[in-house]
Amino acid sequence: MSISRRLLLKSSAAGGALAAFAGGFSDTGRKLVKGAWAGDKPDHAISGNAPAPEFRVDPATGDLTPTPGQIVANVACLGCTTLCGVRVRVDVEKNKVLRVAGNPYSPLSTDPFLPYGTPIRDSFKSLSRLDEKGLKGRSTACGRGNAALEMLTSPFRVATPMKRVGPRGSSQWEPIAFDRLVEEIAEGGDLFGEGPVPGLRALRDLKTPIDPAAPELGPKVNQVALLSSVNDGREPFVRRFFNQALGTINFVGHGSYCGGAYRSGSGAAFGDAKKMPHAKPDLQNAEFVLFIGTAPSNAGNPFKRQAMLLAKGRTDGVLNYVVVDPVLTNADNRAAAERSNWIPIRPGTDGALVMGMMRWMFENGRIDANYLSQPNGKAAEAAGEAGWCNATHLAIQQAGHPRDGRMLRASDLGWVTLDEKERYGAKDAFVVLDPSGTPVPHDALLGPAALFHEGTVATPAGEVAVKTSLTLLREQAMRLDLAGYADACGIPAVVIAGLAREFTSHGKKAAANTHGGMMAGNGFYNAFGVVTLNTLIGNLNWKGGTIFGGGRFPDEQDGPRYKLASFPGQVKPSGTAISRPVPYEKSSEFKAKKEAGKP
Ligand code: SF4
Repeated sequence: MSISRRLLLKSSAAGGALAAFAGGFSDTGRKLVKGAWAGDKPDHAISGNAPAPEFRVDPATGDLTPTPGQIVANVACLGCTTLCGVRVRVDVEKNKVLRVAGNPYSPLSTDPFLPYGTPIRDSFKSLSRLDEKGLKGRSTACGRGNAALEMLTSPFRVATPMKRVGPRGSSQWEPIAFDRLVEEIAEGGDLFGEGPVPGLRALRDLKTPIDPAAPELGPKVNQVALLSSVNDGREPFVRRFFNQALGTINFVGHGSYCGGAYRSGSGAAFGDAKKMPHAKPDLQNAEFVLFIGTAPSNAGNPFKRQAMLLAKGRTDGVLNYVVVDPVLTNADNRAAAERSNWIPIRPGTDGALVMGMMRWMFENGRIDANYLSQPNGKAAEAAGEAGWCNATHLAIQQAGHPRDGRMLRASDLGWVTLDEKERYGAKDAFVVLDPSGTPVPHDALLGPAALFHEGTVATPAGEVAVKTSLTLLREQAMRLDLAGYADACGIPAVVIAGLAREFTSHGKKAAANTHGGMMAGNGFYNAFGVVTLNTLIGNLNWKGGTIFGGGRFPDEQDGPRYKLASFPGQVKPSGTAISRPVPYEKSSEFKAKKEAGKP
């Protein structure tokens, strides 16, 4: 068959397909031609029946003309937990929200955002194309933020409390009045025809312990827990009621269904399991960012700001990034072009990838030894580092030792005598080896300590086997070869090695991030591993690395007019939270088992 005949056959096949397509969609096509998508006769050929803009700016003179009948309110969007500043345009006569757009004063909607002292008129001008500035100054609300106006008008919005009236899972509900809601929650009763349900009045027992044998659990009121799935900015009021008025300690903000696993893994890596701090990549200055289990601008808020910075970074700057995700999302798309790559992974196996990368980094000497070998803040400062970690601190590694696996402390060597409460606390220094190999308190050294070491130290109780933390991490990374890690996570060994090479090719201007991901049962460990990648290249709080936020406004505090943080008769909740954020070894259960000779 000649080329021309083949082409002809192909063309006729394509023509047939097109004809079938046109037939199937002829009605839609007719409507499109008629402009039925926006009414039979749209006001404008391009903008259809979109409402008039709230203002116009004369590009020649800069004069601003507000559109009569519209007002603009700069408010916060409650469409998701990002709480972006948005600009809501309202039709005054109809009292109807016309459109949601970006607020140019908000860093979550605009980059760079306007100083707060900028007059409103100037803020409008900043959004226009005055002075041929194109899209500079553009301020956006995301699609969901735009759709938020449906919260006011959708016939499906939930506008009154709904009570279940059928068996669980039957989706049978009825609207009830707020008074009845309060009555039923406070007083309880046979609320669902399934037997008595105690109300909050009966559950508010601030004296009787949950378990007399475990007083640390606190009073029975702690058996009331509120699981909050989203912080919409009004959480302090909910806490005010549940914690300070009712008295339970159990207001739960995060679980592994959202950011809990990531936050607890990150908190553990940063040494604060209570506040669970977490950091983010410096997208404005980074050269390479590895997103594992999270898709930038799809997950891990602030979504919009992250999307803006990511787009700017890859367009204007030198940012390249890789998204490791079981699913291909639009975090990796045509707009990103060759500046982004997607690597699929078997769900929940991120730890295998991370440990494989660590193995390659240890084998190839691609770790930041200058950062890792500083045992305290002063030493780090002297070495020109922005922080320090416990890589050099010694851990007890002796089977049968009562503290096997724990960090060696000054009190173990008899350097300090502390009572039971203070022992192993902040006053009990960790132990490192100075350059001569002599054990010293970690905070006494003004220079680097031994990074890798395995040996024994003399204690009043005899010789104790120890290793530095980094030695232990290296051992764990060496447990499998790259082929083994590849088998576990489904990413070829050569790709794992390539990722490690790239990650360690930018000095401190690289970051690994998993904010918004790791929602699996093993998410804590996976998140801990990802954050530790940053530790190994010493990028914390470095330009282009991983950075902590600059603080925040307080959610609540007592002001001159309203007392939001306190009130007469408030309760200070006590006991142990349902998440048990305390070592098991400190529990009465552990003590009782130990006394009974049980392991
Ligand atoms: S990211 Fe979108 S939905 Fe979320 S607060 Fe901002 S504008 Fe609203």
